Amino acid sequence: MPDIAIARFAHEGNSFSPIPTPIECFTGSEWAVGDGVPKYYRGTKTEIGGAIDWLDHHPEWNPTYLRCTGAPSSGVLAPGVFDKILAEITTGLSKKKWDAVFLSLHGSLNAAEYAHADYEILKRVRAIIGKDTPLAVSFDLHANVSQPEADIPDIVVGYKCHPHTDMHETATKALDIMLRRVKGEIRPVAVIVRADAIIPSLFARTTDGPMAKVKQLAAEIEKKYGLLDLTPYQGYAYADSEAAGASAWATASGDREAARKGATELVAEMNKRRPLLFKTLPSAAEGIARGLKGQGPIAVIDSADHTGAGGIGDTPGLLAALVTAKPSKPTAFAFFHDPGLVAQAQRAGIGGKLTVKLGGRLTSLFGPPVEAEVTVGHLSDGKFTNVGPVYHGLGVDLQGVARLDFVGLPISVMITGICHDTTDPDFYRVGGIDLKNLQVLAVKAKNQFRASFGSVFKEMIDIDAPGPAAYDFSSFPFKKAPKTLYPLNR
Ligand SMILES: [Zn+2]
Repeated sequence: MPDIAIARFAHEGNSFSPIPTPIECFTGSEWAVGDGVPKYYRGTKTEIGGAIDWLDHHPEWNPTYLRCTGAPSSGVLAPGVFDKILAEITTGLSKKKWDAVFLSLHGSLNAAEYAHADYEILKRVRAIIGKDTPLAVSFDLHANVSQPEADIPDIVVGYKCHPHTDMHETATKALDIMLRRVKGEIRPVAVIVRADAIIPSLFARTTDGPMAKVKQLAAEIEKKYGLLDLTPYQGYAYADSEAAGASAWATASGDREAARKGATELVAEMNKRRPLLFKTLPSAAEGIARGLKGQGPIAVIDSADHTGAGGIGDTPGLLAALVTAKPSKPTAFAFFHDPGLVAQAQRAGIGGKLTVKLGGRLTSLFGPPVEAEVTVGHLSDGKFTNVGPVYHGLGVDLQGVARLDFVGLPISVMITGICHDTTDPDFYRVGGIDLKNLQVLAVKAKNQFRASFGSVFKEMIDIDAPGPAAYDFSSFPFKKAPKTLYPLNR
């Protein structure tokens, strides 16, 4: 019976966040090993959920589940976190000779010690498993990739969808290709061709807009050259490394020239559409004003502190604009990460009155806290299972939630015990917020949110505000990214 090792170490690290990511962000999120892995991931629309399904359909394989972990996007991994997690995986891998290895990675892992950290993972894993053991990997579409990295594994397949609704399919494809490599049917070679820009992800959805066509072209070019996979990586704009920027990654069986042609053609299409990805967004005040005037419910979306892109759940700009606008119809704000305030609300109880400072707790870089008189409107433990299309089926524990209602203004603010993203409908259920009764939801979010709530909101208004993942990042202090890339070359 052939042996396969399965492991996951997935995180996207924002070089411009003032808050490093501690190991607790992983242990408090996805954190499973051994039999705990199928128990936690089975039935989920995730890469490991996909691997478990694949193994159910290939019972001749004997799986060993090593450490599987992932955490919402946040700052750079704090010193030591990278080695601590990776050591669990490499120790497991060194215990025997494997017939294949599958890793679920992000591709924009960013550690204090290694800015291009997935490359470091692949180097170390390859050194342990030997050059002949088939190594299959899945990546997020927002991976920052490089040719030295591409030369290590046998196959890397990236998500094709943004919002990311194809995690399960991505793992399945990687494992199918791995199986052909195990049988000796193919000899994968990979070529990376880099685009000429670091691109913001806001208008790079594959459901609509310029990148929808790129997704379609990738599939056509993949077919035309008989490639095993062709992924247009959009890159992650806020990870400052030598691999920063968008790229195409083509994998062919044996034919390096076919891979080069496919990746080159696809990158030309990506470069052509680049101007459509850079726009001028309304400010928070302009977005709120439009939202209060239109037919509700309307979402006003601040991606500058989107916790799916390395946000910190703490920037106050959008709430400040909402308060200044003095709404007359029901509005809500999601969210601030503030465990101390959750505890304070729990002590006060439902109906309790508090004087609070909202946001600006972790840093004053993005504006001062909003001071307010509130009553505690809702409390919950913050536990739910994702019901929306992103990470469907995966359990979440927000470690306590409070809804604070402003005195004298129809504004409710959701406070959570951990920093988590706002994409799932049940996030609001545990927050005691009924979206369809709102005029405006002011929310820290981005494209994944659209996958869940396209039918709920009459309109979604994107704004830009100060934050670690601001849409306009052209003045951010990049140090390692190639300065030849747009917009750093402006
Ligand atoms: Zn992504």
